[in-house]
Amino acid sequence: MDVIKELKGELGEKVLTEPEDIYAYVTDASNVLRQVPLAVVRAYSTEDVSKVLRIANETSTPVVVRGGGTSLTGASVPVKGGILLDVTPMDGIEVNVDDGWVMAEAGATVAKVDQECRKYGYFFPPDPASSRYATIGAALAENAGGLRGAKYGVMKNWVLSLEVVIPGGEVLRIGKPLYKWRWGPDLISLFIGSEGTLGVITKAWLRIYPLPEKVVRILGLFNSLEDAGRAIFEIRRSGILPTMLELLDDESVNIVREQSGLDIPETEAMIIVDVDGPKEAVWRLANQVTEIIGRNGGKAEASDDPEEMKRLYAVRQGIYAAVTRTYKGVLIEDVVFPVSKLVEALREIKKIKEKYGLPMPTFGHAGDGNLHPNICYDPDDPEQVKKAEEMFREVALLAIRMGGSLSGEHGIGLTKKELLVEELKSVNSLGYLKLVKEIKRVLDPKGIMNPGKLYP
Ligand SMILES: Cc1cc2nc3c(=O)[nH]c(=O)nc-3n(C[C@H](O)[C@H](O)[C@H](O)COP(=O)(O)OP(=O)(O)OC[C@H]3O[C@@H](n4cnc5c(N)ncnc54)[C@H](O)[C@@H]3O)c2cc1C
Repeated sequence: MDVIKELKGELGEKVLTEPEDIYAYVTDASNVLRQVPLAVVRAYSTEDVSKVLRIANETSTPVVVRGGGTSLTGASVPVKGGILLDVTPMDGIEVNVDDGWVMAEAGATVAKVDQECRKYGYFFPPDPASSRYATIGAALAENAGGLRGAKYGVMKNWVLSLEVVIPGGEVLRIGKPLYKWRWGPDLISLFIGSEGTLGVITKAWLRIYPLPEKVVRILGLFNSLEDAGRAIFEIRRSGILPTMLELLDDESVNIVREQSGLDIPETEAMIIVDVDGPKEAVWRLANQVTEIIGRNGGKAEASDDPEEMKRLYAVRQGIYAAVTRTYKGVLIEDVVFPVSKLVEALREIKKIKEKYGLPMPTFGHAGDGNLHPNICYDPDDPEQVKKAEEMFREVALLAIRMGGSLSGEHGIGLTKKELLVEELKSVNSLGYLKLVKEIKRVLDPKGIMNPGKLYP
């Protein structure tokens, strides 16, 4: 059976095979590898997805589902060629305020879903820094987190129900858009974090949350990174539940300042903290945060001025792009540490940086213990490439050794498969991997879904 002929017969012009049409799909934001797919199919409906998975299964053709292509781990690179299934045309959104949910098709961006909810006085809390491009299906498949994670958690905390298509083309509905339902073991969780290896998420019903009455943003500047780490720990420990609790080290701050032209003060470390809630309570919380920052040797400024808040948010949101504009080669870590060990982690990360001597601007959702050290190197210098790879491994192993994890939100993809084995070994759980592979075999016996990713 000729797969292209079959696809064109069923899906016509939605199938792209000309080199100029498919070139944009050869890699993702990780840029770790380039591979031209056999064909790209632009899916406009669940039915289109179902047809693709039926034909792919019949012809044993690999399928890589793709949303915005912002994966930082090579998860959406079509490493084995095959069909690249672009779900971005499926971008419908329906808000149901009465029942407290939003339905989003796979290709709707996270930012658009949030904007739609805001029209009704609600919002969608998960907020990856890439939210203008990251799509709902992929954010679920990666269990994405983001800037508001300190209070509102990650994608998995917001799912009520999913529609998925599995290899062979069967469409499954998992659960209902209700705040409670019980069908036995929770198969929604199976697809969360599955990185497109089990099936395609076509629709999601997600919880929405009332917009807080007020948000106050606090900027904290420190003479030492460790002091900033201590302040973050104390803020969490004090019982305040900040919406956002972000950390930027001096290298990160310098890069954003140079790239953005924004007026950002010289500092060894910066934290950005949001508190939200009822009007009467928010300033009290903000003052508590300000006090904690001061107690830990920092200088704090709190503001509820929308323009000032926007400016600070832009600093944090634009940081990764600024780093990649500054350095040709960047390996971004996504390590997580127990919040109680954050200060020690920052100290150890600094030692690794000094040992190898490569730049490593570090920022992240520190309120969740999630740090993004960015190892920067010259890809044309083999010695630097080697050093960068060693550093990457050493930072990940540090997190594992300290009881943390190698990935908080970016996932495993192509780049962290071997490190995943190390983490599983550290908790004596290689059996987890065996079980997950067996589940994969049941759902995808021919191994067509995103082959080469996630499972070592
Ligand atoms: C500048 C920048 C900032 C970022 N900030 C954050 C952040 O703050 N928090 C965070 O968590 N991540 C962040 N990321 C990583 C990335 O944006 C997220 O993982 C995001 O969820 C990926 O969305 P996407 O649509 O671009 O996915 P893609 O790259 O297109 O796909 C990612 C994975 O999901 C699979 N997939 C795609 N669609 C589906 C579907 N419908 N069903 C099943 N599987 C599917 C793909 O096969 C692939 O394995 C950032 C990336 C960049 C470039």
